[in-house]
Amino acid sequence: MFVAEIYRSVQGEGFLTGTDSVFVRASGCNLRCWFCDTPYTSWNPEGQDLTIDEILAQCEEWDARHVVLTGGEPMLFAELIPLAEQLSAGRLSGAGRHITIETAGTLYLPVRCDLMSISPKLANSTPSAERDARWRRRHERTRHAPDVIRSLVAEYAYQFKFVVDSPEDTADVLRYLDEFPEIDRSRAMLMPQGTDAAVLAQHELWLAAFCETHGLVYCPRRHIEWFGLVRGT
Ligand code: SF4
Repeated sequence: MFVAEIYRSVQGEGFLTGTDSVFVRASGCNLRCWFCDTPYTSWNPEGQDLTIDEILAQCEEWDARHVVLTGGEPMLFAELIPLAEQLSAGRLSGAGRHITIETAGTLYLPVRCDLMSISPKLANSTPSAERDARWRRRHERTRHAPDVIRSLVAEYAYQFKFVVDSPEDTADVLRYLDEFPEIDRSRAMLMPQGTDAAVLAQHELWLAAFCETHGLVYCPRRHIEWFGLVRGT
């Protein structure tokens, strides 16, 4: 599996915010969001090809009970199936880990997972033709995969995290939730786009109020507040 980094930090987003966790960040993505905050796993993927045993051994260096399999898009890699299985079973240390998978929800794998954290990419994520016309077309073709979303919702404990860049994007979120009435709104979070704490604080003013009005959950990006946009956090 191609891996950009493995590190221990604190989960900064979603229901498990504040949880001490080991992060395994797969490198490679089938999308190209213009705002991607890990371009070293998408626009310019970097990393090392690691075996499952090498990944397990690095995870075992820390005793955090939670492991977050993230990316990039970790569901691109079939090795995720044995990796999650073995982490969950505690193959090396005997201590089973809680597994969160962070995915854009365009690919399905029958993988062991305790929390499927789905961040669907809306129209506001598409890169401009000036930046990359080929990826713009591919991104638009790929970003919405309704059958995958329905399978993930039916089979896993889940949370949704929508990235919202401006007030205009909220209509798209509501349309999305109308398309999938099976999504529990108390698990649908709206997260401001931004990699700067001051910008996020500005967005919070209107986005938190919107969530309150519509029975949705406002999701701060605490890791940006705590650490800034820094690799390994
Ligand atoms: S889906 Fe995630 S990793 Fe892929 S380009 Fe978009 S933000 Fe980056």
